[in-house]
Amino acid sequence: MSSAYARPQVRLAPSPTAESRAFWTGGQHGRLLIQRCRSCGHFFHPPAPSCWRCRGTDVGPEPVSGTGAVAAYTINRQPWIPGFEPPYIVAMVELDDEPDVRLVTNVVDVSLDDIRVGLPVEVFFEEWGDGEERVWLPLFRPRTSTPAG
Ligand SMILES: [Zn+2]
Repeated sequence: MSSAYARPQVRLAPSPTAESRAFWTGGQHGRLLIQRCRSCGHFFHPPAPSCWRCRGTDVGPEPVSGTGAVAAYTINRQPWIPGFEPPYIVAMVELDDEPDVRLVTNVVDVSLDDIRVGLPVEVFFEEWGDGEERVWLPLFRPRTSTPAG
């Protein structure tokens, strides 16, 4: 049995850099934007000015499907952040579009008994901050619809 996700009182929000801004703000339009190399076609993360595969510099953020699978996870039971109550799941999510792209994120709406490696998940966004510091954190929850095939 899983309990519905409740937005925490606080989060440690990132400060986007020129390179990571698209990643942190794509959620404003419901899009998960990952840096893609136009030379070799691969996505990569974290965003960088050149591709680590082919060293191409023709790179830029492009939307991905937002679906993936849990590649690894830990259950945090320590109240490290006041207002952000344990237990919660810190997971590494592997994107379907590019399994090499792994995002460290929270997986929510899943019970601690049901979280597992390989669990299909999908992105959703949580808005934090004001003005220039506004970000849309990509979080994940169990996928509700199974893609055909
Ligand atoms: Zn490349």
